[in-house]
Amino acid sequence: MRYFSTRNKNEAVNFATAALAGLAPDGGLFVPQEIPQYSAAVQSSLGTMTYDDIAFETIKLYTGDEIPGAVLEDIVHSAYPFGAPLVSVGDRLVLELFHGPTAAFKDFGARFMARTFAYLRRGEEKPLRILVATSGDTGGAVADGFFEVPGIFVTVLYPKGRVTPLQERQIAGLGKNISALAVEGSFDDCQRLVKAALADEGLKKKMVLSSANSINVSRLIPQAVYYAAVAGRASAGRVDADGEATPRVGGAASSGAASSGAMPANGGRFGLRRGGAADGAITLCVPSGNFGNLTAGLYAMKMGAPIRQFIAATNINKTVPDYLASGEYSARTSQATISNAMDVGAPSNFERMAAHFSWEEMRRIVLGVSVSDEETRKTIAEVYEEAGYYLDPHSAVGWKGTDKLFAENKIAAVPVGVLATAHPAKFSETVEPLVGPAPVPASLARAMERNVHSQTIPADFAVLKDVL
Ligand SMILES: *Cc1c(COP(=O)(O)O)cnc(C)c1O
Repeated sequence: MRYFSTRNKNEAVNFATAALAGLAPDGGLFVPQEIPQYSAAVQSSLGTMTYDDIAFETIKLYTGDEIPGAVLEDIVHSAYPFGAPLVSVGDRLVLELFHGPTAAFKDFGARFMARTFAYLRRGEEKPLRILVATSGDTGGAVADGFFEVPGIFVTVLYPKGRVTPLQERQIAGLGKNISALAVEGSFDDCQRLVKAALADEGLKKKMVLSSANSINVSRLIPQAVYYAAVAGRASAGRVDADGEATPRVGGAASSGAASSGAMPANGGRFGLRRGGAADGAITLCVPSGNFGNLTAGLYAMKMGAPIRQFIAATNINKTVPDYLASGEYSARTSQATISNAMDVGAPSNFERMAAHFSWEEMRRIVLGVSVSDEETRKTIAEVYEEAGYYLDPHSAVGWKGTDKLFAENKIAAVPVGVLATAHPAKFSETVEPLVGPAPVPASLARAMERNVHSQTIPADFAVLKDVL
């Protein structure tokens, strides 16, 4: 597979070049020359294949012979000791993407990326330094993914005092090949410093630099996997038993509807109905910020996964819902909300979506909706009350967005699933006052024990350059 920049279709590079560079030299994003297709055999078995097998069949279409089959199998196997359970909650389906070590969906991309980088750089003598700017979740996932990977050093830049205590421990608690810089400034300052470092000729002479934010194709592609997996399961009428980390407590939700492999007894408004829709294709609601997750979903759909439509749910940072409604794209500065991983006013993956789809096509496939903090809080409380299920603020935006579109008669067919992008215990500052403490998964409890080792720097490139 060849990849070209969204800003220049004439110069194509291979997967390794696109992945290791992150951003194209002209500032564009790498996109595959064409979105590949699942074979008929794979397409018809998505509902019964293991997660690892779907990952292998999906990713190999993008990496071709650059990663030998046996290596790819190993990468996938070691990256995903956890899965993405599809569970039935109240009247709909929830895809839990928070069973990885940092309890947010970014583990799926970061863990694959780390292992792939280690393979692609085998035999290299010069160490690679990865710079990553984070508003909270990305830094932890990248740090965890690359921890103890030989030959690769990671520097995470985060806004001092603006990440949660748990996020800070995930970012700055590991040590070894992971270092953390607390920047006296905002996330935008962190991002600016990283961009300046990547473009600095002096630094480039001294070290091999790369970045690991969500514009990297090697983070995007593995995210298509869980879309194919959930769509396959839903069209086969299967849900999973709730896993260990599922924050399910008493009440309606534990009434036995979700035993492994069985269809829910009562499909509700949005659930799987016996017999299902004509083709069983699912509609999926994606809580969105930078739109990497949704872009991966669009890839899975184009590859042939049985997905009917997407809902792009944002908080008040609704640049993309506004674009879908009007056809006019206007980036803006982000506003702070309680779903802070989605506080993005200029979503970087929009450039990638626009490279593949016209406005007319996009609005046929994607329904946009935006949700306020007040609505988000109310939803967390209501869903707990009615279904005994803890939602984190990001997933609650998805839940409420689905309700709003349903009320407007914009969602026609079942099944409908909401992507739960983070574990509720990860955002306990918001969740706990509303519904009490959600059970804490072991990985988060371990992270809370760590000590923070970070260096504070001003938002000044000269200082960063010195530190590096
Ligand atoms: C990063 C993140 C999002 C937003 O995902 P994008 O791919 O940037 O749209 C949503 N929820 C959580 C919990 C996240 O960490």
